[in-house]
Amino acid sequence: MPERLPDVIDPMGFAEKRRHLKGVIPVLKLDRLAEFLMETDGEVKVDLTFTRQGRTATIVGQVTADLTLQCQCCLGPISWPVACEVHLGIVNSLDAAMQLSDEMEPLLVTPDAEMPLADIVQDELILAVPAIPQHPDCRMPSPADPAPERPNPFADLAQLKSKRSIQE
Ligand SMILES: [Zn+2]
Repeated sequence: MPERLPDVIDPMGFAEKRRHLKGVIPVLKLDRLAEFLMETDGEVKVDLTFTRQGRTATIVGQVTADLTLQCQCCLGPISWPVACEVHLGIVNSLDAAMQLSDEMEPLLVTPDAEMPLADIVQDELILAVPAIPQHPDCRMPSPADPAPERPNPFADLAQLKSKRSIQE
């Protein structure tokens, strides 16, 4: 049975205690991510270790989910498996964020402050969602495809008018 995950966490405190969080969060609980999805059923698997690397408090692990996006071409569903490698450096100032090594993304927190676990998880997933999801074999109408030629409805009228003015 997956462990029940806490709703709010204290990232710095968890890093001190070397906490390991493993469990699932219903996709429905991730409100900002849900805006990108066509269906909000299913759950996100979370496997995160809070630890220290040198002087830096870090969160390392994986967030995985099978999301359902909407194809922006045919408006049908696309199943979109995501597996995000999480490597966050927990910092409490922008200066500290600048000093993180390149492979770490900063997670800015206020000292001793709790934050929703869902926020950390959905931020990672949102980055893995394409801006314009599309089936690989779905073709968007592009400017390279000429639009079908449509007769100008006014062309006939103009012709008719000019004919008439000749007859008159
Ligand atoms: Zn499509």
